Amino acid sequence: MPEIKAIHGWLHTARFLTTAPQLIHLPELDVPEIAFVGRSNAGKSTCINTLTQQKRLAFASKTPGRTQSINLFAMGKQGTTDAVLADLPGYGYAAVPREAKLRWQRVMGNYLMTRKNLKAVVMLIDPRLGLTELDDILLEVIRPRVEEGLHFLVLLTKSDKLNRTEANKALSIARLQTGGGEARLFSALKKQGLDEVAQLLWQWTHEPAKAQAPVRSEAPTLEDEPPALDE
Ligand code: GDP
Repeated sequence: MPEIKAIHGWLHTARFLTTAPQLIHLPELDVPEIAFVGRSNAGKSTCINTLTQQKRLAFASKTPGRTQSINLFAMGKQGTTDAVLADLPGYGYAAVPREAKLRWQRVMGNYLMTRKNLKAVVMLIDPRLGLTELDDILLEVIRPRVEEGLHFLVLLTKSDKLNRTEANKALSIARLQTGGGEARLFSALKKQGLDEVAQLLWQWTHEPAKAQAPVRSEAPTLEDEPPALDE
């Protein structure tokens, strides 16, 4: 793994790639993608901006009910793209009409279930509020993919607002609720967890490709012979 400075440098290359109001508008990509999800106000934009050391890369619309989109940011040195961050719209605005909420649940659910190049999901949670119903639904949606190897990380944001006891308690609860999944504390203000998260993002997007189907060691048996042509 490169030194932490180089990894932060890599994250700093993040630039806006595209925005997609619906899945069909999302380009198919073959580079690894990491999705950031979380209820609105969880600290998702601040986290992305802190990780990439950019002031306004991600800025959530604070207008309830406004059409939101999936925003993609490309990363990679010298004009190349070796990974993509996907900023999914924050959920949980009380004021959003039911129809719009349901539509977004569907779009997010579909994205998380079907996005081929998705390598990891980072879920941001404000530990003072804990997991909300929608967080739970999303956890259920991705569980089968996590079992198949999708990386998953819960970030407990704004950890500077917790004392040590509260922080440890929040971590244990998050680990329980996510079925023993990875959970870390994160504070944009105090830069807590920054290096660790940066390293995870780099690792997840630079894993060696999965091994090919194992090469057979035994000689083929008769059954493997191509069928004889009778005529
Ligand atoms: P988003 O809706 O999930 O994108 O949330 P934002 O990134 O806009 O953050 C919501 C609020 O939490 C804002 O007022 C931020 O200033 C605040 N916030 C975000 N991260 C931190 C943090 O690490 N520490 C503290 N104390 N406040 C934070």
